[in-house]
Amino acid sequence: MKALIDKLTKNNNLGRKELIELLLNLDEENKHYLHDQARKTTAKVYSRKIFLRGLIEFTNYCRNDCAYCGLRSSNKRCERYRLSAGEILDITTQGYNLGYRTFVLQGGEDPFFTDKRLTALISKIKARYPDCAVTLSLGERSASSYQKLFEAGASRYLLRHETRSEKLYSKLHPGMSSKAREKCLWDLKKIGFQTGAGFMVGLPSQTTEDYVADLLFLKELEPHMVGIGPFIPHQDTPLSLASSGDPELTCIMLSLTRLLLPEVLLPATTALGSVHSRGWEKGLQAGANVLMLNLSPPEIRKKYTLYNGKTSIPDEARIHLQAVQERIKRTGNIADMGRGDHISLSEAFEVSTLV
Ligand code: SAH
Ligand code: SF4
Repeated sequence: MKALIDKLTKNNNLGRKELIELLLNLDEENKHYLHDQARKTTAKVYSRKIFLRGLIEFTNYCRNDCAYCGLRSSNKRCERYRLSAGEILDITTQGYNLGYRTFVLQGGEDPFFTDKRLTALISKIKARYPDCAVTLSLGERSASSYQKLFEAGASRYLLRHETRSEKLYSKLHPGMSSKAREKCLWDLKKIGFQTGAGFMVGLPSQTTEDYVADLLFLKELEPHMVGIGPFIPHQDTPLSLASSGDPELTCIMLSLTRLLLPEVLLPATTALGSVHSRGWEKGLQAGANVLMLNLSPPEIRKKYTLYNGKTSIPDEARIHLQAVQERIKRTGNIADMGRGDHISLSEAFEVSTLV
């Protein structure tokens, strides 16, 4: 197995069969080796910087009915809210003053947020804070809508492909199609967004072959960002009785992704931090280099429950920011609140390639 890990580290690629063989035969020793190689690769590309993002969960209305998610439209027990443009701007001001230079606006697929409303909001944030990156995570929209959002000043978009297994995808997403989702991802890339894809680990009936298909899809798409987190059940969904995804397996997926795409921006996700008390640390040790901290007002957080037991830290982005920075330091890394663009688009890269 060590030879396969070395080959992956050197070539940043492995075939389907090799990835399956690796996943089926990883023992503890090889797992450590894999994480070490991934962590070293991250350090080579991004040194020891861990980028902090400020997350704003601005609407929990959603027209979709994803089987795993607490915001699904048929969950009538979900108390819906949406923040006003003024409230969102106020949060960006608080975030800016704390040092955040990336704001991630995330929400359900809420038809209230038309192109007009969103472009007005993005323009206002960019006018106030031109040095900040605006990342969107709002689900599927048309290419022309994405184009307008990009022109208004958003520069990054997170849209996980969720799973590459068509069978599993259609079971979990009534009325949606994996083809349409993938088209969105290609559209986003073509428009010029730093684009994020990704998947969940531990969905009911998900197989090793499915994970390998996810990894190979990522290699083909070459996204700038990849979000990988364990599935966690939510009490008011059809998957309420399913078990959570395994944090160890999630970290293996993080390391494989890092080695397949050395330059990728890879968060240690909130879900990983929720299934394991040291989930963030484990993610960073497996090659992750981003943390998304929740800037949403504490009083609305309970309503934005994609899954049960979302991190236990009450206000990590504000009150406990220093504690988070300390946790990062203890992993041998440094918290960085700068924009943290993908290395191919960052100023440092431009300078170093010009010289
Ligand atoms: N509506 C947007 C963004 C919000 S959901 C979208 O779907 O893209 C953001 C991510 O949360 C999803 O991509 C999904 O992978 C994750 N998620 C939703 N429910 C989850 C659950 N029960 N366990 C783990 N992750 C979940
Ligand atoms: Fe809506 Fe996203 Fe949840 Fe699906 S995962 S129900 S699109 S918020």
